[in-house]
Amino acid sequence: MDLARALAVGALCLAGVGCGVPRDPVVVRTSPTPITGSSVGQADPSEPSPSVPGPPEQTASAPLPPSLSAGDRRFPDLGSADIDVSHYDVTFGYDPEVRRLAGTVLVTGTLVRSASQIALDVDGPDVGAVRSDDARAPFTVVGHDLIVDLGAERSPGDSFSVEVDFSTIAREQDFFRGDVGLFPTARGLWSVNEPDGASTWFPVSDHPTDKATWTFHVTVPGGLTAVTNGELVSATEGSAGTTWSWRQNEPMASYLILLLVGDYEFVPDRVSESGVVLDHVVLASELSTIDPYLGATRDQLAFFESLFGPYPFERYGVAITDSIGGLAMETQGLSLFSSAQLDGTLGTVQQAFLSHELAHQWFGDAVSPASWNDIWLNEGFATYAQWLWFEELGIADVDDTARSTLLGLPAAGWPLAEPAEMFGPVVYDGGATALHALRITIGDDAFFAGLRSWVTTFADDAATTADFQTVMEATSGHDLDGFFEDWIYSRSVPSSLPQPSA
Ligand SMILES: [Zn+2]
Repeated sequence: MDLARALAVGALCLAGVGCGVPRDPVVVRTSPTPITGSSVGQADPSEPSPSVPGPPEQTASAPLPPSLSAGDRRFPDLGSADIDVSHYDVTFGYDPEVRRLAGTVLVTGTLVRSASQIALDVDGPDVGAVRSDDARAPFTVVGHDLIVDLGAERSPGDSFSVEVDFSTIAREQDFFRGDVGLFPTARGLWSVNEPDGASTWFPVSDHPTDKATWTFHVTVPGGLTAVTNGELVSATEGSAGTTWSWRQNEPMASYLILLLVGDYEFVPDRVSESGVVLDHVVLASELSTIDPYLGATRDQLAFFESLFGPYPFERYGVAITDSIGGLAMETQGLSLFSSAQLDGTLGTVQQAFLSHELAHQWFGDAVSPASWNDIWLNEGFATYAQWLWFEELGIADVDDTARSTLLGLPAAGWPLAEPAEMFGPVVYDGGATALHALRITIGDDAFFAGLRSWVTTFADDAATTADFQTVMEATSGHDLDGFFEDWIYSRSVPSSLPQPSA
């Protein structure tokens, strides 16, 4: 994610960007107390009422309760340690008149642990009928978890197939007050789902450790376009409107879903020299503004591939939308930007936003954080990539930027490995400065070889800060315990950067 204030660093604090945009999205939620039957989902009245599972029976063979968390310390509600989702097939219609989204999600995967129930995250949607392997399945909604009875105990490695009917109203929200999920517009909507917005509009295992492939079939009134991640498979006219089908064959975390509904045009560009399909999406009213960003994206792609290795996905694009100004999001393969920033000009603001979100495709999208406390692995890296691009453009030397940034870093809010604020200057600027310190410590060759190894080792997966240390030690041959203690795990910011080794 890129917020305007992520640019608020020394020379990069740019006039007109709104440095210091207030936002405090840190929502440290606690696990709900699972009170069975406290919030039972609304069943389809035409169907028999689902039975509500009672408390686990206290017998010798009593099944374990379903895991309601992937174990994330920052967001202990999210995900489930019991399941590994392989694919989501999400089918729904959106009516902009009443701002209602309704449909089904078919979730398929395998059990990681023995279980007779599985839990999906659901924080807002109404749940209708639930089916397991095509048969009606009892379910409960407890706190932010939808618990589905599979009918019998299953073993690790067994498959499951759960289909859930759901509906959601896209209500007015305030992103800068921490809201995520769906944001309605006059004729459609946009969405931003980091970190837990997806489960506010459909049932999902909403944690980046559980990546999956996806298909979306979105029906909208005629004349409107629905855009999600991946490849557009078809657009089919029907009595209810046009159904836009998209296929994302590359594993993707739920927080990286893009959903746009509106009057959009597709702008295909040439395939990059490295074979990346460059397809952009622009509001029809903004169509004339896309031209400068075609070349800038191609140039940034080639530059980052020279440093970080091959672009990690089949396709990339820029989506120019009617989302709020000051926000951009690295939605996988097609980053979300606001027309307030991508307004047809190509200055430092546009270069910063474009390079930041593109770099996230390696750092955040291909390699996702294994816990949300590891968010610096996303934002510190994308910010550093942005600095590298500005140096390439001749705007600012990276070493100068890091040294001036270090002087302005906050005294509180550390350590980087467990920041007080998830989207604040410690994570963005502190993370980038720490990376520069690491580069000085181990040298350019080992640093960039390490970044490439990081991506190849953990692409399509999630990884931890400790994993990053392991990769950088293996690549550089350095023992980095002291470095990580000083820069990543310390509660006080180091006062100076290391001196380059002779
Ligand atoms: Zn970012």
